[in-house]
Amino acid sequence: KDFRNNIKPNWCPGCGDFSIQAAIQRAAANVGLEPEQLGVVSGIGCSGRISGYINAYGFHGVHGRSLPIAQGLKMANRELTVLAAGGDGDGFAIGMGHTVHAIRRNIDITYIVMDNQIYGLTKGQTSPRSAEGFKTKSTPSGSIESALSPLEVALAAGATFVAQSFSSNLKQLTSLIEQGMQHKGFSFINVFSPCVTFNKVNTYDWFKENIVDLEEIPDYDPTNRVMAMTKIMETNSMLTGLIYQDKSKTSYETHVPGFREEALAKQDLKISEQDFEKLVAEFK
Ligand code: SF4
Repeated sequence: KDFRNNIKPNWCPGCGDFSIQAAIQRAAANVGLEPEQLGVVSGIGCSGRISGYINAYGFHGVHGRSLPIAQGLKMANRELTVLAAGGDGDGFAIGMGHTVHAIRRNIDITYIVMDNQIYGLTKGQTSPRSAEGFKTKSTPSGSIESALSPLEVALAAGATFVAQSFSSNLKQLTSLIEQGMQHKGFSFINVFSPCVTFNKVNTYDWFKENIVDLEEIPDYDPTNRVMAMTKIMETNSMLTGLIYQDKSKTSYETHVPGFREEALAKQDLKISEQDFEKLVAEFK
């Protein structure tokens, strides 16, 4: 099973997105998928290119809309493992409404946010994840807004799987994506992915100094929602690892009346030929 294709990514050398691409490819192989069993949907931004760089079904959507497309894909073909991906601008600015509602809906897809704390494709503007005081072309005197905490938002929205990782930690990231793909519900994975070209503050070294790995916290219990929120707040959202998982809640699509496991295309229409013709005639 090889999830690599022959397209050469046009990310800048050193961009964190390369490792996320590798982690997705490894995770998909490790959970035993075949390329035709995986669908990757992305939004717009440097990160949005990822759907073209994986040997699977790929859909490069529009800005902030990877999640509606990914949810439609899952509803139409429940046999597919569906993964959505995009940047922090894509998911937490224009796409934030979709992010919150997809989380609370708990549909069975994995959402990876490639969080570089800046807009890279448009050459470096302040994003929802940029820290207060962050200077860019759009905030030359420093941002006067504070950074969004995606982990707090996800947990507050009722997420059943919340994780965070760093693109340099390929082993942890691959494992978290595997767990996300195997989780029966919405899996939210935020990944620190340094933009080496435009973000000179949140660099690889900066993340290494500031990240708090959950393995360093004794007796941490990822099934305890209150503990998860407390640690997120105590670490200023710099926690990495599996932060929270609730395996008891069943996913959205299984509650849809008449739910069946197979893809819609394989299901009987359960309608007579005569009634079908009548239905088609109404659309003429
Ligand atoms: Fe990566 Fe930044 Fe280059 Fe975009 S501009 S490819 S985010 S390093």
